[in-house]
Amino acid sequence: MKVACIEKRGTLGGTCLNVGCIPSKSLLNNSHLYHQILHDSKHRGIEVGEVKLNLENFMKAKETAVTGLTKGVEFLLKKNGAEYIKGTGSFINENEIKVQLNDGGESVLRGKNILIATGSEATPFPGLQIDEKRVITSTGAIALQKVPETMTVIGGGIIGLEMASVWSRLGTKVTVVEFLGQIGGPGMDTEISKATQRILKKQGIEFKLNTKVVSGDTTSELVKLDIDAAKGGKPESIDSEVVLVAIGRRPYTQGLGLENIGLELDERGRVIIDSEYRTKIPHIRCIGDVTFGPMLAHKAEEEAVAVVEYIAKGHGHVNYGCIPSVMYTHPEVAWVGQSEQDLKSQNIPYKIGTFPFSANSRAKTNLDTDGLVKILADPETDRLLGAHIVGPGAGEMIAEATLALEYGASSEDIARTCHAHPTLSEAFKEAAMATYAKAIHF
Ligand code: NAD
Repeated sequence: MKVACIEKRGTLGGTCLNVGCIPSKSLLNNSHLYHQILHDSKHRGIEVGEVKLNLENFMKAKETAVTGLTKGVEFLLKKNGAEYIKGTGSFINENEIKVQLNDGGESVLRGKNILIATGSEATPFPGLQIDEKRVITSTGAIALQKVPETMTVIGGGIIGLEMASVWSRLGTKVTVVEFLGQIGGPGMDTEISKATQRILKKQGIEFKLNTKVVSGDTTSELVKLDIDAAKGGKPESIDSEVVLVAIGRRPYTQGLGLENIGLELDERGRVIIDSEYRTKIPHIRCIGDVTFGPMLAHKAEEEAVAVVEYIAKGHGHVNYGCIPSVMYTHPEVAWVGQSEQDLKSQNIPYKIGTFPFSANSRAKTNLDTDGLVKILADPETDRLLGAHIVGPGAGEMIAEATLALEYGASSEDIARTCHAHPTLSEAFKEAAMATYAKAIHF
């Protein structure tokens, strides 16, 4: 196909690459190293002298990673013959897109097939003006120019906890205020969420659960938040130097001219599509954060491939029951398939196998033993239903669980597969074994 990609940011890769997954992973990795050198080296027999944070260079390391990757994507588009048009696209009619070019001027593109992949933006908090300095979203949180003394995070979902980890490790006193009774968002298995909260609390992050931020005030030197405990607690207020708003993201369709082609959005602002990603105008399809499903880059990527297969061959497929989630705190939290609360609420019978990293040899040698693997399987067929991990390397280990789930493995299939010793993934094998027998090492 002859392909053109319209992008207004000036660099390719969208939110994930420019201001999301990629820069945050640089900050998470390097803040973890810093924190480890400061607080977790002496008992390993490593004595260090003065350790100093150079925030400017810390941010530069992040920018190097981002620039290298955005340029890499640009190179790949070129190499594969896709045209990259820098500008803002909006529908004139069902086949034509007007592009306001970043360098000035306008052009009109005609497409036989059109794919909307405009993503999402941070949901603002009513009454709190985002300035990306004192009241920030994740975009400001990856670009602060000094380490704040105090930070309050509104929302204990994935963005809130990843950014809370970064700044807490660099020395900020962080408080996370979460409306629900658990952190990590409703998708995280409750037992794993509780274990994670205990670990993050030990690291110095303070949590206020079942608590709602009701209003904010930025007129004083510190930002003031009024909070209300959902279950009968007293209203109180918290003052902090910086407030991070991390209460979710919403689809981004501003300026796209959807009204010119009569495309409707649902009550949450999502572009409505059918199971083949078609809007009500069949040659206009839509994927990613701007439509249904979890807002994850890897989900959007699978959908994009499926759309192209639909266009080129007439069929494509994404298995929505098999999309992994990873929270890149330390330790990482990762899961795929159904959580225990999902299964309970649907009255689906299950059996559980767990294995703690404290009993895993590699975690012991690494002095990194917080966390566990939890596996849920069908009590009759032994088929894997879900895998939930909090522990070192969980984000890599979940690939094994995802493969097992995708291929319809039983927990015995996993437990009878030879895993290299000593590796963290032996904990995964033993948790699978624990669903139908006894784990060997616990
Ligand atoms: P989220 O929906 O995961 O979490 C938002 C949290 O805010 C929820 O737990 C909610 O209960 C809470 N909340 C909402 N209003 C509140 C209020 N008034 N007071 C207190 N708490 C309140 O959203 P997010 O963390 O902002 O992330 C946005 C999206 O980006 C998600 O879909 C997430 O999966 C995705 N993301 C993924 C990754 C990753 O995969 N590692 C990283 C970053 C973001």
